[in-house]
Order: sequence, then structure tokens, then C-alpha cells
Amino acid sequence: MAGDQTMSDFDQMQYQAHAISELSIIIQTKKIPNALLFSGNENTGKKEAAFFFTKGCNCLSETQLVCNNCKPCRKINAKSHPDIHCVDLKEGKKIISISQIREIGSAISSKPNEAKFRMVLILNADRMNIQAQNALLKMLEEPPEKTFFILIATSISLFLPTIISRCHKIRFKPLTDPLIEHLLIHKFKTDKHLAHIVSKTVDSDLKKAMLYLNLNPDDETKGLNFLKIRKFLLETLAGIIKNDKSVGISKGLMLSQRLSLYPELIDDAIAMMKTFFRDLMIFRFSPEKIVNLDFFDVFTDISDRIESKEIEQWIKTLYETQKRLASNSTLRLTLDRFFLKIVMHKGKLIYD
Ligand SMILES: [Zn+2]
Repeated sequence: MAGDQTMSDFDQMQYQAHAISELSIIIQTKKIPNALLFSGNENTGKKEAAFFFTKGCNCLSETQLVCNNCKPCRKINAKSHPDIHCVDLKEGKKIISISQIREIGSAISSKPNEAKFRMVLILNADRMNIQAQNALLKMLEEPPEKTFFILIATSISLFLPTIISRCHKIRFKPLTDPLIEHLLIHKFKTDKHLAHIVSKTVDSDLKKAMLYLNLNPDDETKGLNFLKIRKFLLETLAGIIKNDKSVGISKGLMLSQRLSLYPELIDDAIAMMKTFFRDLMIFRFSPEKIVNLDFFDVFTDISDRIESKEIEQWIKTLYETQKRLASNSTLRLTLDRFFLKIVMHKGKLIYD
């Protein structure tokens, strides 16, 4: 009922000490708010913190905040507690609808079965449409007995202000790139160099890094795609930069076609290109500082042929492309346009 928790062997919460101490104080003072709003990047331990909090509110231990051993703790851990209600996006849907919120409303209209405090957990709460939010607001205004809501969201910008004002808000900090790199190397025994590259690509998301490095046994295919695509992407990009315009154009269009087959990897492909251009920029001054060390020879080969101004122009174009994609432009067309621009800006190459 409560969804997957694939990070069971690794506790993201330990990097959210401020959030956990705030929740611990609430549990100890027994002043349980009607609603809490946890916001922050994907995979920063928000859901785990929600389960920690509900255990803390229900644990029978007299000496520990959460004992993980009493009946309520065990039922919550086993996802078999009857007083934990979870709402999430339905498969294939992009919004949480009013009917889902109404279902919860009727499920909690009577007293909790056995919990001291019942939890309604709303995952992806920022995907509730306005009707759903208004329905939720009614519940928050007249909260059912012994019940708290936890809303989990990456951003709070889409919430009605009236919802936000009724919630106790807790921010979950993104993990830093160096921390992700450190964890990959020391906790997951990843090759140092690969850990560095991946940490610069995954936008503070450790779970994604694990997925790409196949550290998560649930999914192997995406990780394989990631490494393959990275190699193909950076090699082709180098080829575009190295060759004359007509070769550059055909390589660019081929790359666009290939990348558009993996829309789920496009943000990461853009992050990879950013590190590539950044490396190209710093290579002639401090080659030891580049991220993509496995492309050292390639940078040696091409860095003299390009001027910093051109690279700046490429980076600018890349940011524009990212914005276009975020505003739902057609993937293939936007990428075609990007790679053509890259080729066209190559005005000063000695091969021209
Ligand atoms: Zn307990």
C-alpha cells in the first residue's frame, strides 16, 4: 500500500538531520500537527521520514522514540498497518484527481482502527489538481480525529496558499555532488572516476546514480543505456566539433535521432553535454580538473581548435534548448535544432 522503498539498505534520512530532529521534537512534545508538508528534490528521504514520523507517533516503547520492535512499529514496517492511507499518482496518470481525495475522505470518516495517530500520506502531492486540493483543504479545515496528513512534493509552487498555510513545512536538502560521489565510492565501491562523472550528471539524486550504475538490483536496463549513451553522446559530440560542417550536420542529426529514442534520459544527456563543454573550456588551463577523464585524449585533440567564445555560445544554446524542452517542445525537432546550431557556430575552426 505504501509503495516501494528500494533504498532499504541505505538510509537517506541520515543526511537530513535537521528534518529528523524537528520531527523528533514534535513526537516528543506530542503536539502533532494536522498536516505536514515535506518538500525537496527526489530521493532525499522524504517518504522514509514520513514513516519514521508515523512510527514515532504510534510506538509503544517507553525508552525509545522509534523502537521498530513493538506491534505498531512492526506493522508499519511491514506495510500492513490498517491506519496508514497512501495516495499517489495512478499508473499512467499525471494528476491526482478529486475522486482519489474523496476516497480517502470516506476511508477516514470513522475512527482509526487501532492507531494512536492515523497517517494519510500524499505522495506527489504537487500533482493534485485544483479540485483535488480544494477537497483536501476541506479535510484540513475540519480534520478527522487522531489523523495527520503528510504531503510530499518536490516543489510547493503549485499548491494553493491556503493549503500551504495549514501545513507544518519541512524542507529536505538536496544531497551535494561531492557527497554523492563519496557515497558511491565508499558505500557502493564504485570506481572513483565513474563516481565522479555520475555525481555530476544526476542532479543531486542518489537513487538515480544508483540506477545508472546498476547498484539497484530492480532495474538493469536503464543503467546499461546510460553508460552506452554517454559514450556515444560524447564521442559523437567530439566528432561534430572535430569534423567539417557537412560531416558535423549528419552526425548531429544522427545523434538527435538516437537521443530522441530515450526521452527519460534527456535531462541527463543535457547534463552530460554541460560537463563536456565545461571540460572543453577548462582543459587548456587545468586539464587535470576535467570530469570526463576517459575523454582526455579527445580533449587533447580538439581543445586547441576551438575558441572559448564558441564554447560559451554552445553552452548558451544548450541552456536555451533545455528551456525549450521544459516547455514541452517536440523532442526530436528541438534536438535537431540544437545540433545544427552547434555546427553553425563552429565558425572559427581551422577545418572550415
Ligand atoms: Zn515501537
